Amino acid sequence: MTITKPNYRAVAQPQDEPDYQPELETHDISVARLTKTLAPTLKKLQRNEELVFGESFTDHMLAVEWHKGQGWLAPEIRPHGPLMLDPSAVVFHYAFECFEGLKAYKDKEGRIRLFRPDMNMKRMNNSAQRIALPHFDGEQYIECIKELLRQEQRWIPSEYGYSLYLRPTMIGTEEALGVRASKSALLYTICSPVGPYYATGFKAISLYANVREVRAWPGGVGNAKLGANYAPTIVPAEQAAQHGCQQVLWLIGEQHELMEVGTMNLFIFWTNREGQRELVTPVLDGTILPGVTRDSILSLARTWGEFEVSERKLYMNELVEAERDGRLHEVFGSGTAAIVSPVKRISYLGQDIHIPLDPANPEGQAGPLTQRFNDTLMGIQYGDIPHEWSVVV
Ligand SMILES: *Cc1c(COP(=O)(O)O)cnc(C)c1O
Repeated sequence: MTITKPNYRAVAQPQDEPDYQPELETHDISVARLTKTLAPTLKKLQRNEELVFGESFTDHMLAVEWHKGQGWLAPEIRPHGPLMLDPSAVVFHYAFECFEGLKAYKDKEGRIRLFRPDMNMKRMNNSAQRIALPHFDGEQYIECIKELLRQEQRWIPSEYGYSLYLRPTMIGTEEALGVRASKSALLYTICSPVGPYYATGFKAISLYANVREVRAWPGGVGNAKLGANYAPTIVPAEQAAQHGCQQVLWLIGEQHELMEVGTMNLFIFWTNREGQRELVTPVLDGTILPGVTRDSILSLARTWGEFEVSERKLYMNELVEAERDGRLHEVFGSGTAAIVSPVKRISYLGQDIHIPLDPANPEGQAGPLTQRFNDTLMGIQYGDIPHEWSVVV
């Protein structure tokens, strides 16, 4: 990796403007400049059964600073630990924060694998751009993450279903209270060993269709993974829990258009009004988070070519009607944490919409299509099914 040189000429040329100001090119992230400071003592590994999502972290983290005019400094692997930030740092006042979530898996040969990490880097750059945080070279940053993973190998569980969750995060760090773009930023990645979302097989969930609060709206930031999108979802989630539901079904508008399930994308498999079997998910209109899992499910379904696959606007009355007419087959959420999360019931305006699970097994907790997406994606993630989406580190 070469480092970009300043592009000004040392000696003024005749054709130069008299007030020519050399514009200094700034550095992008470069793995060639990565430095390592290792932890003096290493933590004790937890047993797989003890892992709780996102509650324990590995020995090291990856961090790289950005400063306006200089660009990205040298990335560093250093012990996982507290950040030193001035209380005036803009992240604490105006929510200059965006993040990503992806996992590293260990395959049967003990190799480390990532799943479509380029998608996470693209999305992170989109999120950062929306809140005036700096752009970075996603490919170089993935190379830095790979170095971190090589360092943290022992933390990646080898048991099927277990993985190392990676949380790339970018924050604005300028010490100033003016509401404007941050002149400095920090991009870091921390790692947390995690177990399967459903340790003992699927457990279908119930949704509370929220007709009051809205997660995202046209022209808003629902399509960016900004920290600011999540704190306001907790009170609605607690209300859903009071109604005996595990997740919120997010709606928007007078016609109760469907958006997402908690922090997952929403999928419905039904026989549509035209009598065709169809997998349908809300279209990416700026209010929906463009999930990597969502994209992968759509792509698999289109490759299979066994039923219609649609991205479009969906309304609650269509769901109510499909249930009434016996056309509703499966509903599930999708996201990195659980891959798919089967839905068995939606509480909507005081009524329950019941969704079938496995027609072949009354005890079953997932429909056959939901199960098939799960098994295929897991197979690809753990390298059992060869696929270009799985990247060997
Ligand atoms: C992260 C997220 C998803 C899922 O995205 P994946 O890339 O599939 O993990 C869906 N909806 C929301 C609101 C999210 O934050």
